[in-house]
Amino acid sequence: MNSFAKQVEMGHEQVVFCHDRATGLKAVIAIHDTTLGPALGGTRMWDYANESDALFDVLRLSRGMTYKAACAGLNLGGGKAVIIGDAKKIKSEALFRAFGRFVNSLGGRYITAEDVNVNVNDMEWCASETNYVTGISSRPGGSGDPSPVTAWGVFHGIKAAARHRLGKDSLKGMKVAVQGAGAVGKYLCGYLSEEGAQIFISDIDSVKTKAMADKFGAKILDGQQIFSADVDVFAPCALGAIINDETLPMLKCPIIAGGANNQLLDENKHGNILKDKKILYAPDYVINAGGLINVYNELRGYNAEVARKQAASIYNTLLQVFEDADKQGISTHAASNIFAERRISAVRAVTAFKHTYDNQSWIRR
Ligand code: NAD
Repeated sequence: MNSFAKQVEMGHEQVVFCHDRATGLKAVIAIHDTTLGPALGGTRMWDYANESDALFDVLRLSRGMTYKAACAGLNLGGGKAVIIGDAKKIKSEALFRAFGRFVNSLGGRYITAEDVNVNVNDMEWCASETNYVTGISSRPGGSGDPSPVTAWGVFHGIKAAARHRLGKDSLKGMKVAVQGAGAVGKYLCGYLSEEGAQIFISDIDSVKTKAMADKFGAKILDGQQIFSADVDVFAPCALGAIINDETLPMLKCPIIAGGANNQLLDENKHGNILKDKKILYAPDYVINAGGLINVYNELRGYNAEVARKQAASIYNTLLQVFEDADKQGISTHAASNIFAERRISAVRAVTAFKHTYDNQSWIRR
């Protein structure tokens, strides 16, 4: 399929291919939908096998951002950028400044941030050329590390799932298995511990699991044990695609609710299997929106308390998604997609009316 056909099929507004002769920069910026606001999403650097892979990745990721922002109630659209190349070899100030100039040329339709292989320093270079950057520390009002806010949203998402599936308002005494003791996982363990949950932890890094055991009394599980653990909640906070044909038969938990991106290997197939097995799945892009909520607040004048409060409202959004899924007999993932699309359509209708009205009032004058 050619690039335009893909763009049309996935509903993207604009895809920009960027090339800088001096630095060799090759990047693609994809703006999926700006109905709700400017398209915000990070820049990923990856050594793609070919250009089609890069294009497919940026189209998929930017569309995901549209749905994440819509469900989180933010006035943001979905966008993403990829820079093609090996991060260990091609990174330089000149390259990121060249990229920043391309971001700037879009006049704020796309706002960038860090993503895989792109860090705060890289974004500082980018910010030398454009104001359309979030998540940097050098400017006053920078929001810093989003992980605590992401984990705070995940914590409230777990509480919503426990309310809906188990009829419980507190996680006290509940068994929660956290996969990944990284930035999100470790903060989540802290919140769970404060609430009195019993924590099970796995990570490929034994220093990190030991820290969780020492600090929160977490029981350490090995890589495979985490899937078959007899727990109330499985909270994936490491890799994507961990709900698949292999792991599904192992699961004993009634709830999957964690911060990792793209947890379902196949959204439709594995979302439906979870529904049939009566395992309540908190759609990843709904429950892990705290990080996006955090940078959104940076655009409006950062206030940590406001950001945390908004992240906590993921509780209500998830309850609505779970109810919608039950009512319609569909997977929670399908229900959250519909939830997002409903908001975008409603706002689009208002915007269309406003444009018509504005045009008419102009004609009258
Ligand atoms: P991180 O790199 O800090 O932590 C990931 C952890 O997972 C690491 O400790 C790593 O050792 C561990 N890990 C890797 N493979 C593993 C395996 N097979 N089994 C167990 N543990 C394994 O990353 P993070 O920022 O905590 O993000 C975790 C997930 O949450 C990612 O999927 C990320 O995309 C998603 N996410 C993060 C944020 C955020 O604010 N950081 C926001 C939204 C989504």
